[in-house]
This record gives sequence, structure tokens and C-alpha cells, in this order.
Amino acid sequence: MTRRVPLSRILLGSLALWLPTALVLILLVVLGDLPLRAAAAAALAAYAGIALVAGPLFSGLAQVKAAVDALAGGDAPLPEVDTISPTARELARAVVRLGRALRETAAGGAAARAGAEAVLAALPDPLLLIDRERRILSANPATSALLGAHLQGRDLAGAVRAPAVLAAADAVLRGGGPRIVDVDLPGPVERHLSAQVTPLDPPTADGAAAVLTLTDLTSLKRSERMRQDFIANASHELRTPLATLAGFIETLRGPARDDNQARERFLSIMADQAGRMTRLVDDLLSLSRIELNEHLAPKEHIDLPRVLAAVADSLEQRAAGRGMRIMLALPDDLPAVLGDQDELTQVFQNLIDNAIKYGRAGTVVAVSAGLSQRRLGAGAALQVAIGDEGDGILAEHLSRLTERFYRVDPARSRELGGTGLGLAIVKHIVNHHRGHLEITSELGQGSVFTVHLPLA
Ligand code: ADP
Repeated sequence: MTRRVPLSRILLGSLALWLPTALVLILLVVLGDLPLRAAAAAALAAYAGIALVAGPLFSGLAQVKAAVDALAGGDAPLPEVDTISPTARELARAVVRLGRALRETAAGGAAARAGAEAVLAALPDPLLLIDRERRILSANPATSALLGAHLQGRDLAGAVRAPAVLAAADAVLRGGGPRIVDVDLPGPVERHLSAQVTPLDPPTADGAAAVLTLTDLTSLKRSERMRQDFIANASHELRTPLATLAGFIETLRGPARDDNQARERFLSIMADQAGRMTRLVDDLLSLSRIELNEHLAPKEHIDLPRVLAAVADSLEQRAAGRGMRIMLALPDDLPAVLGDQDELTQVFQNLIDNAIKYGRAGTVVAVSAGLSQRRLGAGAALQVAIGDEGDGILAEHLSRLTERFYRVDPARSRELGGTGLGLAIVKHIVNHHRGHLEITSELGQGSVFTVHLPLA
């Protein structure tokens, strides 16, 4: 952009520069040292010369001023330098160069700040920057989900009501090293967090003196508690038959040593208990084997009617023992599913076995299959329903039936030889198949367990 300087300003400016020369010439004329004509000619020539030099110089200075104004005004474009005065040109170009360098530095700083903010925003864990007075300067979006919105400017105590975290922050702000403390945050769902306070030394330009990060350990603690519960339950389940076995061994060694009748009776009970322990250990091993492979979906093409017919055959005797029948309603043209033959055999064994155990004596276990209305992921599915005519299950138990060792009636389950792990195994296998288990039940009528599996 060319800067035009008004002619009047050039003429006036030149006049100011010419004035001392004019005064000297007047003095020389007054003293009689210079004829008036010569003085007038010299004055005219001096003024013309000054005006010729001053024009480009003033225009160059105007460009320097324009460049400085553009810099001060934020992102206005920097002027182009086109003055013919070498001095003004050098100066204006230097100012424009300085302006460009300043803008590049500022743009780099802004980009770096934007990048850092984007990284903080993407962090899944809450992170807060606090100043020397423990005030919150900024917080990333993950923080508001945990501690609420509008935290900026508040004292940390207003956001985190945990004395241990505040004490750690105070210690760090007094010049201490990084601190890590565990906190439990009360609320509708209690949260267990690990809070880390790290000093920023020196503090950042905007005054942040420490960083507080919060790591949510709630699910970690929950799974740790579940693991402990599981070990406690499994040990308890094994200890009971073990104690019975140990008791009978003592009796057989002592008071019942020569009692043939008692020995036969006790040995039969001991065999039952040993069987119970074997079933439990088998189920525990099945569970851990399935869990190990749960991330890899099975890929075999399985003909479900064949699997169901084989399972029904193997359980026919057991059903007959209670005067029950297993009725299969399986269409001939069912497409194959994606699965693992042994695992699917176990699923239907457990479900039909439960239907026999919990169904009323003399009733029918109905096994039917067909295309499912449900879509699994993006694909079509097939469903197998196992229905019994038992007492049914109260709705409040339905969602917990697939938990390990969860039983509606523990005494009845044990009496029937149950381990409390059958449905947990079913659930895990169905998950492994990327399928779905649905349980419906009506008190006094019976229950239906439906397995949906992806088509091959
Ligand atoms: P269990 O070895 O006790 O049968 P499961 O995991 O197979 O363990 O089943 C868990 C609980 O679910 C059982 O104890 C029982 O209370 C209930 N249950 C399972 N299947 C049925 C069914 N067909 N009818 C009624 N209750 C059932």
C-alpha cells in the first residue's frame, strides 16, 4: 500500500527545514555582504532542493508509521515500501521485517497454545490448573463430568470436597514436591479416585502454579472387590463338601469302623460330595477358559439342530427320571450360525439341565429354534428358546441370575446338585459368540431362556 503525503505537509515541512538558510541569507543581505538578487536566487534553490529531498523522506516516514500502526492494530496488513528515499526505505523495510517476525512468533505461540488446549480437552481424566492462591485457572472438559461446570476462578475447595486433596495442593503450593493421594468422593455413585498434584516451577505465564489430575479407580476397585468376592465364594463352595468328606472320613475311622451299613451310606454321601466338588472345579475351569478366549469371536459354521439333538439325547434319561420329556421343534432349513461346537453344547446342556431341575415333575421342556427378530451388530441372528413349566422366577432376580454363584434359592440349588455357575458360563459363552441371552419368566407358569446367535 503506497502512502501519499499531502503536498501542503511537504511544503510546510520543507519550509521549516529551509528557515535557518533563509535567515542566514537575510542576515547577509542586511549586512551588505550579499546582493539581494543573489540571496533570493540562493534561497529559492535551497527551498527547491529541500522540498525535493523532503518529499520522498516524508513519504517513507509515513510508511514506517503505517507499519507501526498496522502492528499495533493486531492483524491489519503491513504496508508495501515504495519510497525513493534510501534512508526512509531502509527504515520502513526494517520495521516491516520486524513486524513479520513478531507476527510469526505470535502465530507460533497461538498454535502451540491451541495444540496444548486440544490435548488437554482430549484427555479422558480430569485435569485442573491452579494458581498460587489455590484458585482454579482452567479445567479440561472431563473435569466437569466429575466435579460440575463453571469451576474457573473458584477456590479448589469449592470443587473438590476432599481434605486430603486440599492438603496435598497446599503442600505443593508451599514449595513441596509432587503428591499423590487416594480419595473417595461421595455421591449417588461413590467414586474412588487417585489425585496427583504436581508443581509447575516456574509458574506458567498465566499464573498456573500446579496441576491437579484425577484418575478414576472406581471400576478397578469394583473389579478387585468382585475378584475377592469370587475367591471367597469359590472357597466357601469347596469348603462345604470338603468339610463333609473330612467328617465322614473321621467317622469311618472311628465309631463307624465296623458298621457295614453305615459305611455304605456314608460312602454314597461322600461320592455325592466328591461329585459336587468335581462339578464345581469343572465349572470354574470352564469359566476361566472361556474368559481367556472371550476377545476372539468363534468362526466355525455350526448346525444348531444337530447340536440340540445331541444335547437332548444326552439329557433324555435325566428328564425321564423326573417324568419329563424334552420336545424339539426345529425347522429343517435353519441356516448355520458362527460358533464353537463345544461351547454351544455347554450352553444348551446347562439351559436344558436347569429346565429339568427347576421344571415341575411330569412336564415338558420345550426347545425351539428359528430366525431372530434381533440384529446382532449389523447382522441377522438365529434364536434358540428353552422353555420350562416350573415355578418361574421373581422379576427382581432376573438381572442377577447370570452372576457367579447367584441363586434364587441356594438350598434348593445345592440339593439339586447345582454349582451356581451354570448361567454365568452360559452368559460368558454367549458374549464370546457376540450373541445375546434373554430371560423371561412368569411366576407359576415357567421360564424361557432364549439365546440369540449371529448367522454364519
Ligand atoms: P445352579 O447351579 O444353581 O442351577 P445356575 O447358574 O444354572 O446355577 O442358575 C442360577 C440360579 O438361577 C439357580 O440357582 C436358580 O435359582 C435360577 N434358575 C436357573 N434356571 C432356572 C429355571 N429354568 N427356572 C427357575 N429358576 C432357574
